[in-house]
Amino acid sequence: MRYSIFSLMRQALSGHRGWGPAWRDATPKPSYDVIVVGGGGHGLATAHYLAKVHGLTKVAVLEKGWIGSGNAGRNTTIIRSNYLLAGNNPFYEFSLKLWEGLEQDLNYNTMVSQRGVLNLYHSDAQRDAYARRGNAMRMHGVDAELLDREAVRAKLPFLDFDNGRFPIQGGLLQRRGGTARHDAVVWGFARAASERGVDIVQNCEVTGFLREGRRITGVQTTRGDIQAAKVGIAVAGNTSRLGQMAGLRLPIESHVLQAFVSEAIKPLIDCVVTFGAGHFYVSQSDKGGLVFGGDIDGYNSYAQRGNLPTVEDVCESGMAVMPVIGRVRMLRSWGGIMDMSMDGSPIIDHTPLPGLYLNAGWCYGGFKATPASGYCFAHLLARDESHETARAYRLDRFATGHLLDEKGQGAQPNLH
Ligand SMILES: Cc1cc2nc3c(=O)[nH]c(=O)nc-3n(C[C@H](O)[C@H](O)[C@H](O)COP(=O)(O)OP(=O)(O)OC[C@H]3O[C@@H](n4cnc5c(N)ncnc54)[C@H](O)[C@@H]3O)c2cc1C
Repeated sequence: MRYSIFSLMRQALSGHRGWGPAWRDATPKPSYDVIVVGGGGHGLATAHYLAKVHGLTKVAVLEKGWIGSGNAGRNTTIIRSNYLLAGNNPFYEFSLKLWEGLEQDLNYNTMVSQRGVLNLYHSDAQRDAYARRGNAMRMHGVDAELLDREAVRAKLPFLDFDNGRFPIQGGLLQRRGGTARHDAVVWGFARAASERGVDIVQNCEVTGFLREGRRITGVQTTRGDIQAAKVGIAVAGNTSRLGQMAGLRLPIESHVLQAFVSEAIKPLIDCVVTFGAGHFYVSQSDKGGLVFGGDIDGYNSYAQRGNLPTVEDVCESGMAVMPVIGRVRMLRSWGGIMDMSMDGSPIIDHTPLPGLYLNAGWCYGGFKATPASGYCFAHLLARDESHETARAYRLDRFATGHLLDEKGQGAQPNLH
């Protein structure tokens, strides 16, 4: 069924009894051309573009829980392309462009809201670094504006401009950045892929790989063995576990990232704001809650829950930049598992095992990448070559030393 004002009117007149399920909950077949492991945003987007761009429809997405039960349904929904490095910037800008047309492409309201992303700076040195990043963005044709203190004050007068330790001097603004509705993104990609014939199989955990020599020829699952000519892994925080099943040691550590939402309040923040002197960022949801987050937990974990020291750390950072936040009550918090790579940048590449492909290392920035990640992974799976915007995301860069260290912090996943 195509969603439109007319279908809405038709359903309204018939008591909304005619809406069908948005996608087929399929049972697995014995074999496929391509299996994508992981029914998060990246896995589902990959399936959508495999079917739409490459005409491959003998495709299955295998998800151990329900689609969107991982980070796709747990993130703080920020989308942006304000990257410095030449290896990253074109990819994230490609993603932002796909976001800009996504609702039309999927015929689904993913609530893309280009409300702007503002990174605050608090020192002369940081202003210079942000000016450099803004210039790099503009040289790649990406929008960027350096705001001074008064321009930021006009937009967000309630911030603590004269904080004794971290006075606000200004900010780098990307107006085309913003937010999108995370679960709608999952459902929209699932619906579009399913419509083209892709099997979306929930409650189907991959527990091992089928092989002929070194070649991967399928997967073992909790619902039986399934053969496939190609298998793509897109399991975010569980990447190293899947890697271990295949006998691969990957340059990835898993850490928990937490997010928080406050009670609903009247409109206060009309953009996304990030604190430049600590790790804290905040936006306001359409329901009125302040949605915010900060650092990952310091130790490795596969548990989808956070810990109290990080709650304290995030709230402290929030109070340092935006003391009004102390007046609202926190409603909920939750955690997701991040696949932190050693240079903070992702991997979209073949693995050393023929037939096995890898989409991973998204750290805490993979939501914004969802459309481009799916597009480029589908390109790799279908054509066996990297998409032009994802050529830098090679797995062997960790061996050759061609790192994409956007923050310049070295092999410290807990700092990226
Ligand atoms: C709190 C939080 C805030 C974030 N905020 C942002 C943000 O504002 N902006 C941004 O760009 N990014 C953000 N991120 C990061 C972003 O959510 C992730 O990088 C991105 O969602 C990862 O890709 P995915 O959607 O495919 O992952 P997931 O949704 O995690 O998908 C992976 C799926 O694989 C499944 N799986 C795992 N193992 C198996 C198996 N053995 N068999 C079958 N299935 C399996 C999982 O159940 C899961 O559903 C945030 C993440 C968190 C947790």
